[in-house]
Amino acid sequence: ATTRPKRTIRQLPPNLVNQIAAGEVIERPASVVKELLENSVDAGAFRIEVTINGGGSELIRISDDGCGMTVDQLPLAVASHATSKLPDENSLFHVNTLGFRGEALASIGSVSQLTIRSRTEEDDCGSEINVRGGVVESPVPCGCPVGTVMEIRNLFFNTPVRHRFLKTAQTERGHIVEAFTRIALANPKIHFVMNSGDKTVHDLPPTTHWSDRIEAFFGSEIADALIPIESDDAEIRINGYACDPSVSRGNNRMQYLFLNGRFIRDRSLQHALTEAYRGLLMVGRHPVCFLRMDMPPELVDVNVHPCKLEVRFTDGGRVYGRLLQTLRYQFLKTNMTHRVGPAP
Ligand code: ADP
Ligand code: MG
Repeated sequence: ATTRPKRTIRQLPPNLVNQIAAGEVIERPASVVKELLENSVDAGAFRIEVTINGGGSELIRISDDGCGMTVDQLPLAVASHATSKLPDENSLFHVNTLGFRGEALASIGSVSQLTIRSRTEEDDCGSEINVRGGVVESPVPCGCPVGTVMEIRNLFFNTPVRHRFLKTAQTERGHIVEAFTRIALANPKIHFVMNSGDKTVHDLPPTTHWSDRIEAFFGSEIADALIPIESDDAEIRINGYACDPSVSRGNNRMQYLFLNGRFIRDRSLQHALTEAYRGLLMVGRHPVCFLRMDMPPELVDVNVHPCKLEVRFTDGGRVYGRLLQTLRYQFLKTNMTHRVGPAP
């Protein structure tokens, strides 16, 4: 006779739940930087400074001059599924903040040593909270300016498998710079500073001209090749720049698409870009673009991917068509298509 296995179902302790969630959201140091930068943007900061050591696995520090948190909010900030960004049940379908899942800080705190120091404008004194491998201490008073400082040390110290998957400090730093670039490009009015070790890698003063921010990252060769793109219909607004074909790339990594202020990767929209440049680029070359699309939040679901990198449009075909049409129209207007003949 066969014996059947005995199984007992048990509710997982919150600590383990957070570590599992961290597996989805926190892949590497760059994911921490992305989540924290998004929080600082959501907090209405004017200046955000990032410092990393050892490719981010030793230390990530992000300070902002945003709204800060009161002492009683700190334990909630690091609790899972706790957010200030969804005031009621209906708001999930019209989110206008970068965050809303309320699990980034809980996840980060479960796989690192996290210290938060924060102060609101109304408070005379700031407070500090420490989380180590998911164990949350009581907040204590501390002196700090209005805003928030997040310090993450020894990322993945208690998840050896994750830790072993980390690449060299240089590789991890590259991913962090990319995460920083995406958010700093999406928010030109915010002053961003990035330090690696004791070197300042980027110091980007606030600007109202997007091209200034683009030039600060990619230099004058790209800045000189920017062709302004703009279109507006009742619901979809597109503005930004497509680059002259002379500055094409061998890969599509220089296609910066932002949807409602969020960097996205979308195959269909990448295809629209390729189509728009058809006949203008040699085979194997990819266009360089910086495009911001804005549409009512109801027309797009950003809740399909834990990192929110991919989105789902209610009417993907329409968005595709708008983008393609806008670019083709602009290329015709600037006579660009005549250089190699009209599009097939
Ligand atoms: P989410 O961003 O999805 O709400 P997080 O875990 O990233 O979830 O953050 C939880 C909460 O902590 C936020 O909703 C916000 O209220 C608060 N918070 C996080 N970072 C900051 C910050 N830099 N400044 C002010 N409040 C913050
Ligand atoms: Mg967040």
